[in-house]
Order: sequence, then C-alpha cells, then structure tokens
Amino acid sequence: MRNSIKKTSQITEQRSQGRNLVFSHIRNNFQVARIDIANATGMSPATVTSITAELIAAGLIEEVQREVEPGQSKRGRPRVDLKLRGESHIVAGMKLTGRSISAVVLDLEGKQLGKAKVPMPRPPIDRTALCKLIPQVVETVSASAGVKPEDLSAVGIGLPGTIQATEGFVDWCPLFQEQEFNLKQLMEEIMPMPVFVENDANAVAIAELWFGFGRDVPDFLVVTIEQGVGLGIVLDGEIFRGTQGFGAEFGHTKVQSEGALCRCGQRGCLEAYVADYALLREANLFKHWEEGTSEEDRLVQLFAAAKEGDRMAKSIFDRASRMFSMGLANLVNLFDPAMVILSGEQMQFDYLYAQQVFDMVRSSTILKGHHEPEIRIHKWGDMMWAKGAAAFALEEVVRISLDQLGSAETSA
Ligand SMILES: [Zn+2]
Repeated sequence: MRNSIKKTSQITEQRSQGRNLVFSHIRNNFQVARIDIANATGMSPATVTSITAELIAAGLIEEVQREVEPGQSKRGRPRVDLKLRGESHIVAGMKLTGRSISAVVLDLEGKQLGKAKVPMPRPPIDRTALCKLIPQVVETVSASAGVKPEDLSAVGIGLPGTIQATEGFVDWCPLFQEQEFNLKQLMEEIMPMPVFVENDANAVAIAELWFGFGRDVPDFLVVTIEQGVGLGIVLDGEIFRGTQGFGAEFGHTKVQSEGALCRCGQRGCLEAYVADYALLREANLFKHWEEGTSEEDRLVQLFAAAKEGDRMAKSIFDRASRMFSMGLANLVNLFDPAMVILSGEQMQFDYLYAQQVFDMVRSSTILKGHHEPEIRIHKWGDMMWAKGAAAFALEEVVRISLDQLGSAETSA
C-alpha cells in the first residue's frame, strides 16, 4: 500500500515537473511546435501531447498556425505551433520607492497594457497609509489598461529590503514605519485578488527570466545598480532566495576591511561606495550645491564634473567602479554563471558598466582560459521595477494554475 502511494506521488511529481518544463520551454521560445518541445526536453512526443492538452484546457497556452515562409511549399498540412495565451492572465505589478510608486499591467505574454506613476508620501509610512495607497495605485493602473481591479489575476509588489517572498512577509523595509508584518495578508484582506510580495532585485531577475536576457539561460545573475545595489540569483531557472528568503544581499558584501560606514550600520559594504547616498556623502565634502538642488540633480552634476575632468569628482567615480568590479568578480568566482546582467532603468552613470569595469572583473576572476560569463547591460526604461513585480505575480499565478492541474489529476 505504502509503495503504491509513493509510486503515485512520484508520478505526480514527474508530471508536475514535466508541466513546468513544457510551460517554460514555450515561454522562452515564444512560439514552438510540439515535436521541438519533445526534442528539446527529452520527453516523449506522447507525453508532450498530453501535457500541452492540459495546458490548452487550462487556458495557459494556445495553438497558432505557423506562417509559411517565402519560398516554402504551401502544400501539405500547415504546421501548428504553441504559444502562451496572453489574455489568460492579466496582472498588475508595482514598485515602491521613497519618491514614487510605479505600476504596470501586463498580460501573460509580458505585453504592457497600461502604466501609472504616482507620488509616494514621504517615508516612513504606516500601515493605515499603505492600506489606502496600494488599492489606489491598483485602481489607477487598472484604469490605464482599461480593466477593473477584479479582472486582475494577481498583484505583485516589489520592495527594497528583506522580504520573505513565499509568505509575503516584510522583515525589514526602509520605506515602512512598522516592520515585521505580513503585507500579503494585509492586502488580501482589503483587495479582491491574490497579492505577492518580493524583494525588488529578485523581481527584476524574474522579469529577465520571463521577458529579458535570461530566457533559456539556466544560471544567471542580475545586478541592479540604481537606488543601491541589488542582486537576483537564478539557478536552474529558479530564483535562489537562501534558506530564509533573505539571500543575495550583494550590496552588503564587504569590499574593504574597516571601510566606509554603510546604512546597515556595518563598515566596508559595497553599497557604502557605490550607492547614490555614498557618492553624495563624499561629494558633499568638497562640493558646494546651490540651495534646493535635489539629490538626483546633484548626482547628475557630479557625474558631469567627472566627465569634464574634475579630479575630485573623478576620484569618487573611479573608486566606486573599482569597488563595483571587485564585487562583480567575487560573484563570478562564487557562481561561475553563464551570464551576468546589469539591469537598470536609465543607467546614465556609465562608470559602473564601462569596459574598464569588465576588464577589472576579468583580471580578478579565476576563470581565465575558461568560458567567461557574458556580461550584458539591460537598459529597461522607466517601468523596469514595476515589470519585475508583475513578472513575479505572473510566475506565482502560473505556479498555482499548474499545481491545480496536479491536484485535479490526483483526485480524478
Ligand atoms: Zn551594509
């Protein structure tokens, strides 16, 4: 008896892995024939046919006829491909920062249906304010996409800080007055759809996996270099979050013993050299700012001064890029990734991703003579973080849909 239960659960697990594999293969390849899925995954054509039938019935994928290429014979049966069914799930994603909240609505294929940017009250904000603010953003961004909040399959929220994504639990977020609370639960009590909460850099890594450079790359790292330094680790097609969900605090890895003081209270963290606040802290020592100059404008001015050859300004950026390349080299040495993606919205401060940085990374890794990881720069535009949060919501919605297929089969 026990054996047969074990066997059943093994089969169910195999089936569930098979569904995941088929779904991600279709997602990564945009449009693909069943036989090519079988060839690429090593599954039998019969298994692929039966799994794709389940995915079609669940509304996640659909059949499309492949267009005949010029010069090809039009005779014979037209080839049928499979692709994701965009309209099957529509989600909203939003990213909270100290200045604003950006939000998007995406469909399952990653098509952007709407976007919004609303001002954020000055942090730290309390739970009452959050309970007003987030549903308002959902309303606004839904309206921009011509849908109602009830039409959304889920909402994803991306936050800086330490988040236990599986629970939706905020352990620490610099934007909030109260810490250690379950944001997912709080939001699901007041909104009609499931809510998923993730660290902002992890969310961007999921967006790279779904719609970006990480498609079909099993192991890659995403380094986000705006508003601090973030890292998302993708291993075997899945986000690696560490045992408790706190993993990948790249900004707080140490690059200097007894070095500069970091916001986290420790010394010598990478962020304490590379983050906006760290650059300005140095600049404030010698530069005089006109009254009322915003931090963003100060950075732009500082960068312009460095480009014009200002020795002090240049030394700040030089040191930041040396520290950054040391941090990147450490990552490459730790993970031996196939690809490192440097992701940002604007990335106007090119000192962090100049050839000089990549050369320094290469000279500090142990991979010389072997395959070195490709370092790619991905300039996303202004909705990167929100798209990341939406990608996380899509991933969770699909995971739940696929799990439900599993339980339907078991109970049958
Ligand atoms: Zn730190």
